[in-house]
Amino acid sequence: MKHIDVKKLFANTAAYVGTDVTVCGWVRTARDSKSVAFIELNDGTCLRNLQLVFDREKFSDAQLGDVMVVGASLMVKGELIASERNGCEVNVRELTVFGSCPGDYPLQKKRHTLEFLRTIPHLRARTRYFESVFAVRDRLSFAIHNYFQSNGYKYVHAPIITASDCEGAGEMFRVTTHPWSTEHKSEEEYNAADFFGKRVGLSVSAQLEGEMAAMGLGKIYTFGPSFRAEHSNTTRHLSEFWHVEPEVAFAEIDDIIEIAEDFIKSIIRDVLENCPEEMDFFDQWVEKGLKDKLNHVLNSDFGRVTYTEAVEILQKSGKEFKYPVEWGCDLQTEHEKYLTDEYFKKPLFVVDYPKEIKSFYMKQNDDGKTVAATDLLVPGIGEIIGCSEREWDMDKLLDAMNARGMALESYREYLDTRKFGSVPHSGFGLGLDRIVMYLTGVQNIRDTLLFPRSVGSI
Ligand code: ATP
Ligand code: MN
Repeated sequence: MKHIDVKKLFANTAAYVGTDVTVCGWVRTARDSKSVAFIELNDGTCLRNLQLVFDREKFSDAQLGDVMVVGASLMVKGELIASERNGCEVNVRELTVFGSCPGDYPLQKKRHTLEFLRTIPHLRARTRYFESVFAVRDRLSFAIHNYFQSNGYKYVHAPIITASDCEGAGEMFRVTTHPWSTEHKSEEEYNAADFFGKRVGLSVSAQLEGEMAAMGLGKIYTFGPSFRAEHSNTTRHLSEFWHVEPEVAFAEIDDIIEIAEDFIKSIIRDVLENCPEEMDFFDQWVEKGLKDKLNHVLNSDFGRVTYTEAVEILQKSGKEFKYPVEWGCDLQTEHEKYLTDEYFKKPLFVVDYPKEIKSFYMKQNDDGKTVAATDLLVPGIGEIIGCSEREWDMDKLLDAMNARGMALESYREYLDTRKFGSVPHSGFGLGLDRIVMYLTGVQNIRDTLLFPRSVGSI
């Protein structure tokens, strides 16, 4: 269908004024009077609506009846004219109605609550709020690829169905083709008879595969969905989220921290530059001062504190935390929030966590108590990146795995990376959905993607 994107008309109005244009879209608002009728049209290519003007002498009630309703879809042809108020508008000459929209269309009002919109996810993309979210999410994904591509990383695809559970990252969803049956005598027998001949599930992280790829390709990243059967019903956990995981050979913990900070700043800058209207929308309606916050982040160094120092800061804070703080405990959301929102007031790397609360593959520090791991915490959300240098010494890695009682035979290929030409290397994992929250001010991770999956809800 030959037509032009509304975005193009607004981006280069002068070039089109006085010419005939054909546009398509959905009616956002419709107003009628004796002499003229107006429709605000949105085609999804940009946040702004295009005003359509109908001369009532040329368009009868019968012709307009089906389109003067919110949600109807149409195509029009007419002259583009300059308008002081709207930038430009179309003086309609020809009208094609695609689909009218009956009165039970749920998006009649100008504003709806996010809770209500969550009950109609299939229609959310037709609101300004979600148009803005999806525009930012789209640009962010592009910016992420762009950052890695222009810095020499290779994009690799890790399997989604996997037999390795990246120990400790989270509960796995199981994948099976078995119908319900009581005939198997043991779990082993049940798994052995299944499609792959063993127990498999959906990947919780591509890290272990990513490490293997980096041991030949040097710098890689994966970018795909990860699945976690977590029962944590929070505003920042999904059962299916989009995971960005770079892995870098010949990089130690300080190198990867530098990369992570440069990466985060680069993608923030990209979105601010390329989604100005959407960012204005969030700044005005969702989080006041959002743009100032992000610009401040671009112009300052991220904070850095050791876990041990963080524990001291929390203990001296005089705050009544629900979960008391002592060395060795995992930091809870309330602790992370105090550190980022109240104490440091900016993104913060917490480094050198106790080895007991972190994964087996993290590099053990010389103190014998901590590992070279860091979480990047941001105000308002908490953790957005989990990062570490990987243990590349075979003996130390085996010690850590044995201490956790892990079945070494399941990790033979992974251990080969330490056996054959092992090198220092590091990587991190970023949740795309969480960085969307940070960049938009959206408070609930369920509002960052089209169809959120979380426990009990699909
Ligand atoms: P958290 O402590 O917040 O549960 P985690 O320690 O389980 O995070 P990692 O396993 O290190 O997180 O995963 C790396 C990144 O993936 C996290 O920093 C976060 O951005 C994202 N992430 C992890 N779990 C989820 C989830 N359930 N939903 C959305 N994003 C997630
Ligand atoms: Mn988790």
